[in-house]
Amino acid sequence: MEREKNGVMTLELGAPKDAPEIRELVRSAYSKWIELIGREPRPMTVDYDEALKTNRFDLLRVNGRLAALVETSRERDQFLVQNLAVAPAFQHRGFGRLLLAHAEALAAADGLEEIGLYTNRLFAENLQLYGKLGYLVDREEDYLGGVLVHMSKGLCRPEYEAPPAPWDRAFDEARAAASRGEAPIGACVVHEGKIIASAGNRTIGDRDPTAHAEVLVIRAAAKILDDERLTGCDLYVTLEPCAMCAGAISHARLRRLYFAAEDEKGGAVENGPRFFSQKTCHHRPEVYGGIRASEAANMLRDFFKARR
Ligand SMILES: [Zn+2]
Repeated sequence: MEREKNGVMTLELGAPKDAPEIRELVRSAYSKWIELIGREPRPMTVDYDEALKTNRFDLLRVNGRLAALVETSRERDQFLVQNLAVAPAFQHRGFGRLLLAHAEALAAADGLEEIGLYTNRLFAENLQLYGKLGYLVDREEDYLGGVLVHMSKGLCRPEYEAPPAPWDRAFDEARAAASRGEAPIGACVVHEGKIIASAGNRTIGDRDPTAHAEVLVIRAAAKILDDERLTGCDLYVTLEPCAMCAGAISHARLRRLYFAAEDEKGGAVENGPRFFSQKTCHHRPEVYGGIRASEAANMLRDFFKARR
């Protein structure tokens, strides 16, 4: 596909006459996801004649041609981004960022303290962009056989509460894993004081023997930071990592590892292969074990007792 050269850029409010062009842009922007999720993404199925009556559309044009759009609505006290789409010929030029910043400015001008958005959990590049721009994950919701990730960002509000402390988040993820029938192990990655990724075990749900909480958060954090090295990052996990995860932690160049309970049977940090002490291990993080250990150990014991 030929890339459009930059030209005169304009931002205008969408009107009923724009519906066909909006539909065309959205279809071209989202069709790449069809194979990944096995259906047309929701924005491709929207009736834009109707949506234009209720939602606000801000259209970014380059030399008169529709290049990107952001669709927003006001839901109670929150400004919600319903759709952010960039035409394939105009991608990787910062138009997504620009329109999101525009939506944030609209929300702030409206006196709102928060802006929200949601995306399919499989749309990795979207999650990466939103994470970079300061959006934090609020919750996940099952949607048409997949999962929608709801994220939000506080706007110009100094007292905006800090995200839950890393340990609380890791334990929340462990409890959520247990409720899905997975081993109750949770983890999160912290970068510059902020939690940028969290997950619980998903080996059963994902039919993936490598889907340990640590591997999942390392992958997510690397995507969010757009970097295969997590040099300044710390990982919190409720159980001593196994050999696979210790290897992943080393490859990721994580700065610190905090784990809660020791795992005499499967652990590879203080137990078993003691991975970080081996000569063949080329990066060892600082390790802090035993924090909230009994809480984590009890959670595991209760879980396996209930399953026997
Ligand atoms: Zn593991």
